[in-house]
Amino acid sequence: MDGTDVIIVGAGPVGVLLSTELALSGASVQVLERLAAPDRTIKAGSINIASAELLARRGLLPELRAADERTRERFNEFYNSVGREWLRGMPARRQRGHFAGFMFDDNLIDDTDSDLTDHDAATNAIMIPQAEIERILNDYAGRLGIEITRGVTVTGLDSEREGGVTVHTDSGDFSAKWIVGCDGGRSIVRRAAGFDFPGTGPEITGRQAIVTIADPEKLEPGWTWTSNGVYCHGPLPGRVLTAEFDGPPVDRELPVTALEVQESLRRVSGTDVTVEALVGDATRWTDNARQTSTYRNGSVLLAGDAAHVHSPFSGQGLNLGIADAFNLGWKLGGVITGRCSVEMLDTYTAERHPIGASVLAWTRAQVALLRGDAKTADLRTVIADLLGTRDGMTYIYKRATGLQLRYDLPGKHPMIGRLAPNVTLSDGTYLHDYGRSGGFVVLDRRSGSTSTTTSVTTTDSVTTIVDPCTTGPRLMVIRPDGIVGWAEGD
Ligand SMILES: Cc1cc2nc3c(=O)[nH]c(=O)nc-3n(C[C@H](O)[C@H](O)[C@H](O)COP(=O)(O)OP(=O)(O)OC[C@H]3O[C@@H](n4cnc5c(N)ncnc54)[C@H](O)[C@@H]3O)c2cc1C
Repeated sequence: MDGTDVIIVGAGPVGVLLSTELALSGASVQVLERLAAPDRTIKAGSINIASAELLARRGLLPELRAADERTRERFNEFYNSVGREWLRGMPARRQRGHFAGFMFDDNLIDDTDSDLTDHDAATNAIMIPQAEIERILNDYAGRLGIEITRGVTVTGLDSEREGGVTVHTDSGDFSAKWIVGCDGGRSIVRRAAGFDFPGTGPEITGRQAIVTIADPEKLEPGWTWTSNGVYCHGPLPGRVLTAEFDGPPVDRELPVTALEVQESLRRVSGTDVTVEALVGDATRWTDNARQTSTYRNGSVLLAGDAAHVHSPFSGQGLNLGIADAFNLGWKLGGVITGRCSVEMLDTYTAERHPIGASVLAWTRAQVALLRGDAKTADLRTVIADLLGTRDGMTYIYKRATGLQLRYDLPGKHPMIGRLAPNVTLSDGTYLHDYGRSGGFVVLDRRSGSTSTTTSVTTTDSVTTIVDPCTTGPRLMVIRPDGIVGWAEGD
C-alpha cells in the first residue's frame, strides 16, 4: 500500500509551492530533490503582480515586499555607480520590467485601466532574485511541516502499476498514489512517463551572471541591441546578460566561466570590456520553446518548467509555474480527500495549457525582435513608436502583469474566471487576507446596508465573509487559486 498521497520530484520553486498547496488541502506529500541545498544560481529576477497576489493570499507578501525593498536598494547602487539615477526614464523604485529590452515606462502606463485597478495588494511587480523566492517558499514549507528529501536523484518511474506510481532513485524506490514532475526543463518525469514536448528549437545562446568588471563604463547601462544580439548591464550591480544568435550551446553541462561571459559580452557589445570574476554561479540558456500537449498522463502530472520551457525574456517562466502550482494544488488535493471527482484534473490542462502557449508565443515574439539584422532594427523602430503611446505601453505592460488571465468558466459575470480583486472590506481588512487556509472564500455583500460589521466564519474548506460594503459584486466565490469561480450582482 502507498502511504504517501503525492511524490513531487524537484524542490525548485514550483515543487515546493505545490507541496504547500497540497498540504493545505489535506494531502500527504513528499518532495524528492537531487540537490543537497536550494539552488543559488542566478535565474529569475522578479515575479509579476498576479504571482505576488497569489502568494499574498497565503500571507507571504510582507516577506516578498521586504526582499523587493532590498533588491531596489541594490538597483539604486547600480544607478549611482553608472552615474545615472534614471535608466531609460525609469526610476529604481518604479522598475516594472521590460519587453524585448523595451523598459515599461511608468509615465505611459494607464494605471486606471480596469484590468489593473482592482489589484492593489501588490501594485507593482516584486523585484526579487529567484534564490530569495526559494528561501521564502522553503521557510513556508518548513512551517507547514513538509518533508523535503534532498540528495536523491530520480532515475525513472513505473506508472503502469495498479493504484499508484513507483519512483526509482539512486537511493532506492519510493511509492505514492500520484506523482508530479516539477523537475525543470529537462524533466526525467516527463520523459519517463512518455509525455510529448513539441515546440520550436533554439536559435540563441544566452548567458546571465553577476560579475566584477574592471572597466564597467565600457558597457551601456540597461538593454542595448547590437548587430550581434543584445546585452543587458544592470539593474543589479555587476549583473550582465547576453543573447547571441549563434545557435544553442555545444555543451550545456559545462560550467559557465568568467572568460566565457567576457567573450560573449565583447562579441555583443563590440567593446574590449574585461570581466574579472564571477560572483556566484552563472547560467546559460536558450530560446528552446516547448510545451507538453497535456499536463497529465494517468497518475503522473507535470508543473512548471517540466511542462513548458521558453526563453526568459520578460521573465514569465516562474510566474507560469507559480500559477500551475496554485491551479493543480487544490484540484489534486480535492481528488485525494474525496471533495472532487478525478475529472477535475482535466481542467488543470484545460485552464493552464492555453496560458502556457500564450507565454511561449510572447517570448518567441521577443526573440524575433532581438535579431541583429537591419530589418529587425527597423521593426524595433516601429515597435518603439507603438510603445511610445499610452495604449501601446499599457497593452504590453498588462500582458506581463498576468492580470489579464481569464479561464473559460460557466457564468456571465465579467469577473468569473479572472483573478479575484483585492477588495477592501468595511473593517479595513483586505479580501486577500482571508486566503491563508488555502480553501474557498465566499464574499457575501448581499445584505448591503442592513449589516454594519464584517463577520467571518470558517467551516472545513470554506471561509465566508459577510460584509456590508456596497461596491463590487454582491456575491463572489473565490477558488483556492485566487480565481473567481462565481460572481453575481454589480
Ligand atoms: C537566466 C534566467 C532568467 C530568468 N528570469 C525569470 C524572470 O525574471 N521571471 C520568471 O518568472 N522566470 C524567469 N526565469 C525562469 C525561471 O527561472 C524558471 O521558470 C523556474 O526556475 C522554474 O521553476 P521550476 O521549479 O519549475 O523548475 P526548476 O527551478 O528548474 O527546479 C527543478 C528542480 O528539480 C530538481 N531536479 C531536476 N531533475 C531531478 C531529478 N532527476 N531528481 C530529483 N530532482 C531533480 C532540480 O535540482 C531543481 O531543484 C528565468 C530563467 C533563467 C534561466
